[in-house]
Amino acid sequence: MSTFELNEHYSSFIAGEFVSPAGENRPDRNPTTGDTLAQICQADASMVDQAVESARGAFASWAAVSAVERSDLMLAVADRLEGQLELFARAETMDTGRAIVETREDVLAVIDQFRYYAGAIRTHEDKLVWHDEHSYSMITREPIGVVAAVVPWNFPFLIAGWKLCPALAAGNTIVAKPASATPLSLLLLAQVTADLLPPGVLNVIVGPGSTAGHHLISHPGIDKIAFTGSTEVGRSIAAAAAQNVIPATLELGGKSANIIFPDAPMGKALDTALLAVLYAQGQMCNAGSRLLVHRDIYEETVKELKTRFEAVRIGDPLDESVRMGPMIDESQASSVLGYVQAGIEEGARLVTGGIRLTTPKYEGGAYVAPTLFADVDNSMRIAQEEIFGPVLVAIPFSDEEEAIRIANDSDFGLAGAVWTRNLNRAMRVAKAVRTGTMWVNEYNLVPSHSPFGGYKQSGYGRDAHLMAMESYSQTKNIYVSLSEELPGWYD
Ligand code: NAP
Ligand code: MG
Repeated sequence: MSTFELNEHYSSFIAGEFVSPAGENRPDRNPTTGDTLAQICQADASMVDQAVESARGAFASWAAVSAVERSDLMLAVADRLEGQLELFARAETMDTGRAIVETREDVLAVIDQFRYYAGAIRTHEDKLVWHDEHSYSMITREPIGVVAAVVPWNFPFLIAGWKLCPALAAGNTIVAKPASATPLSLLLLAQVTADLLPPGVLNVIVGPGSTAGHHLISHPGIDKIAFTGSTEVGRSIAAAAAQNVIPATLELGGKSANIIFPDAPMGKALDTALLAVLYAQGQMCNAGSRLLVHRDIYEETVKELKTRFEAVRIGDPLDESVRMGPMIDESQASSVLGYVQAGIEEGARLVTGGIRLTTPKYEGGAYVAPTLFADVDNSMRIAQEEIFGPVLVAIPFSDEEEAIRIANDSDFGLAGAVWTRNLNRAMRVAKAVRTGTMWVNEYNLVPSHSPFGGYKQSGYGRDAHLMAMESYSQTKNIYVSLSEELPGWYD
């Protein structure tokens, strides 16, 4: 097995190699220690131009690669990643501050994405429609072209995988831009697949979103944009896509309702309520950040959650026993604590947390304690705005109708869950809540073969599932006539 390791210096990966550094270097930091992980040479507009040109140049031959060969290449990438699982998981943990037990799951999920779409392209069949006995349409799918994939810092590798795997499988070439805070896993992907994927098929640009990112998404040489991140940047991406008349898929924020009825399997519901909002330190678009609890079990649930919140193992994310590391940076921690202040001012009851952890064990990182608010009204800012941190707001409800009304009283529509042993109620609630995903007696799971994406302000388009691959291709209708009869138009 080849050995790979993290470089001390990275630049953008264009046409199969890391381009000779020309721009300014900036340190990529480890949010747990503040240490520099690597120096990253920042791409300027001309480097973005080169990356787009490289992807355009590689497109025709990549699109012409047979499904068998493309599938084999994707399987080879999956095997390569499997052999480098620990390298990727450690790099992702050091770059994001997320627990190693989580980042390992992310890498495994990306490996599964490569295998899932490698299989999917082997099963793809076009359609044929007979119009009459001597004419028919062949309805075929063709790749779109060059895909710009812009991804955030919370799940850098997983979210990149959700975009790259179906896009590559469908025959597109890629220019990917990781978030400036977390470039390592995508750069590593380019590094370890450099001898597998043809040059130009996967290009990675590293540089500021406001300059390099902006130049990429407005570039006339790209054919589709796939984005996950903030609503604000999402809007500017939709505008850039409209300007160039190209499709975009947007996966934006959320404020998902996790709804517990008294007949829920309570042990799993409570443990999963923590996972739903504390995973990734709560820096998660699909976080179950509003806990809707039936009044009959409200106080008892709040008490049980307080005990569990206070027992979460927090610390060095490379430690296998740790479940929560630091926030991505100081500004994210201050933003979260600002919401805690707002919650207190609006009259919510702070049950636990709400503080920065500052004992020597936490030196070096911006750790925020798991935070629980009770007696929250859904109109409060902490119930309406995406906090993107380890903050759960518990809202009581009296009946099913009220639970659905509160769940839907949100600008967002990404995900949610309902906990009950009553199947009829589970289905009624799952269908009535206007979100792209509803879990029943579960949270957070997104297997490769199930679609993920939002309603309302949470965006449009879907990651994962066959429909993601579909969204990276377009339809061609080839109308064939077997008849030589004159059309009779001049007669
Ligand atoms: P962001 O600003 O939307 O960044 C996401 C990606 O877009 C990054 O790669 C970023 O690059 C790039 N970008 C920024 N400005 C751009 C522009 N004008 N044109 C093109 N690309 C641009 O999100 P963030 O700063 O990572 O997080 C801000 C907030 O977004 C969070 O607090 C959270 O509320 C939300 N968020 C949501 C998700 C989600 O999964 N839905 C994920 C992360 C964040 P740079 O990093 O170089 O700026
Ligand atoms: Mg970093």
